[in-house]
Amino acid sequence: MLKTPYYLIDKSLLLKNMEKIAYVRQQSGAKALLALKCFATWSVFDLMQDYMDGTTSSSLFEVKLGREKFAGETHAYSVAYADNEMAEVLANSDKIIFNSISQLERFASVSREHTRGLRVNPGVSTSEFSLADPARPFSRLGEHDPAKITSVIDKVSGFMFHNNCENDSFERFDEMLTGIEARFGELLKQVKWVSLGGGIHFTGENYPIDAFCQRLKSFAQTWGVQVYLEPGEAAITNSCSLEVTVLDTLFNGKHLAIVDSSIEAHLLDLLIYREAAKLLPNQGEHDYMVCGKSCLAGDIFGEFKFEKPLQIGDRLSFQDTAGYTMVKKNWFNGVKMPAIAIKQLDGCVELVKEFTYNDFVQGLS
Ligand SMILES: *Cc1c(COP(=O)(O)O)cnc(C)c1O
Repeated sequence: MLKTPYYLIDKSLLLKNMEKIAYVRQQSGAKALLALKCFATWSVFDLMQDYMDGTTSSSLFEVKLGREKFAGETHAYSVAYADNEMAEVLANSDKIIFNSISQLERFASVSREHTRGLRVNPGVSTSEFSLADPARPFSRLGEHDPAKITSVIDKVSGFMFHNNCENDSFERFDEMLTGIEARFGELLKQVKWVSLGGGIHFTGENYPIDAFCQRLKSFAQTWGVQVYLEPGEAAITNSCSLEVTVLDTLFNGKHLAIVDSSIEAHLLDLLIYREAAKLLPNQGEHDYMVCGKSCLAGDIFGEFKFEKPLQIGDRLSFQDTAGYTMVKKNWFNGVKMPAIAIKQLDGCVELVKEFTYNDFVQGLS
């Protein structure tokens, strides 16, 4: 048995998402690029690249990773590029999408030969958190004004809209896309490709995937564009767990269990959005607050039900821990960083990465 803590990626679960993505590509004609900011654990890219068209990125390092580790197209995007990054970004990408007209103009001459796009912000989104809402007031994410965009249309051949966020409603997606068509139709006619970004939960249970495919197809036909999707969370949803061990139990008015991990260090996204970790089946008569081992008072995974009282040495498995987790893990408190293991399609579990004291030391100087 592997030593905890470790993230366990199950390729057979990942494959279910990949097959849905492949189906959408085939039925709709859209291309699908993995958003590396959500998930960059490249040991499973060998499987993913057979079902997706490539990657998209948020920085120079991500675009290089996409080029190096994932077959197919590599899209470059960043909220802002520094002058000293541009040569390498261009050398490692097939398309570059600028976030603003001023960045597009700043790099217009060096990127002359490159396929270029511009991020457009339609001013509506589905995010419930202003922290993650690309359409929040005064948002810096993309250009808003059709007239301004028209003035640089000769410099780009495509647009990127990313305004969905964990959106599991096809109706809402459809409605927002219709809004985009109404507001930016004249511009859409003048480009060759449009990326609709990520945040669409089309790999979820019961998502009306055929209606989604039809909508993408009709969008592509109406405007004469190649559509791209940039799934992050939808590509890896429910394919990973975080395996931990109970180190101590206490009773302080509630039963507490402390595990050899930390939500602050290993599942940070949940803490930021004030969500509990998922632990199944979450049934039984024994209630526990499961806590991390960092000294942050609120390092709490959540309150869960168990069939039997928890004992030191019990193993627990938090579910759905692939997206925005491994990419955000950190060395807070010097807590041992979870190893990474992969359950291969034949069921064998393979340890692919372990972190050591030396990695902790190397992270600073
Ligand atoms: C974050 C992001 C994505 C991926 O979003 P998910 O919600 O993980 O699907 C795709 N494109 C852009 C531009 C993004 O910023």
